[in-house]
Amino acid sequence: MSRIFVIANQKGGVGKTTTTVNLAAALAMHGKRTLLVDLDPQGNATMGSGINKRTLEGSVYQVLIGAAAAANVSRHSDAGYDVLPANRELAGAEVELVGLENRETRLKQALEATGDAYDFILIDCPPSLSMLTLNGFCAAHGVIIPMQCEYYALEGLADLVNTIKRVHANFNTNLRVIGLLRVMFDARVTLANQVSAQLEQHFGDKVFRTVIPRNVRLAEAPSYGKPGVVFDPSSKGSRAYLAFGAELIERVETLIR
Ligand code: ADP
Ligand code: MG
Repeated sequence: MSRIFVIANQKGGVGKTTTTVNLAAALAMHGKRTLLVDLDPQGNATMGSGINKRTLEGSVYQVLIGAAAAANVSRHSDAGYDVLPANRELAGAEVELVGLENRETRLKQALEATGDAYDFILIDCPPSLSMLTLNGFCAAHGVIIPMQCEYYALEGLADLVNTIKRVHANFNTNLRVIGLLRVMFDARVTLANQVSAQLEQHFGDKVFRTVIPRNVRLAEAPSYGKPGVVFDPSSKGSRAYLAFGAELIERVETLIR
């Protein structure tokens, strides 16, 4: 059975897409069959996987409205995983879904139809709790929360955890927080270390051991249409995402046992 994880945080620019793309590539490098689902109309995860969002024949939009199967619009990325791509067309789905039956569980049904094809499915969400994000939450077994160790991070986290609880109660009793991932971490900043310590105190082993450092190679990679771990595997940021992939595989195996 595939393990389906949604990478979520209602804030923009916190590293969701960077995490999804690099984790997908890291899991592929670790030998896992992986599908990345781009649920953001900006299509950054699509482009960052080397797939041109402007020349798509089909996207996750057709899948959500029931006009295509995921297997028929998925594309293979040179980085070793498949991508269910997105572009601006997806912005329209927000409105169209409202008129459709089972509007929250359309992605869930579409991913169930992929059967045993993947070990991992990762869903990249837009910032905000929209109908698209709700589809991501309803389709997933767990949430991975990337966060920067800043002053307001804990406040935002409380909102997100409440949202996840509401989705759990109303739509998807399988949903749980898999873990919090500290990203863009700068160990020279005192506040970052303080917030990081607070996270460990409050959330214990829900905080992933791996910390993703701020690293310019990760930010440069998308302009080459590659995940950082493929673009420059030896950089500090890439090594961290590879370690994170291994940690997630280990955590998932202990969850299932
Ligand atoms: P989101 O998807 O949450 O909006 P992104 O993954 O697009 O966030 O990241 C926002 C910006 O920060 C991007 O320009 C990205 O390249 C950069 N970025 C993300 N993670 C890192 C990192 N660890 N080090 C340096 N830059 C990063
Ligand atoms: Mg993004």
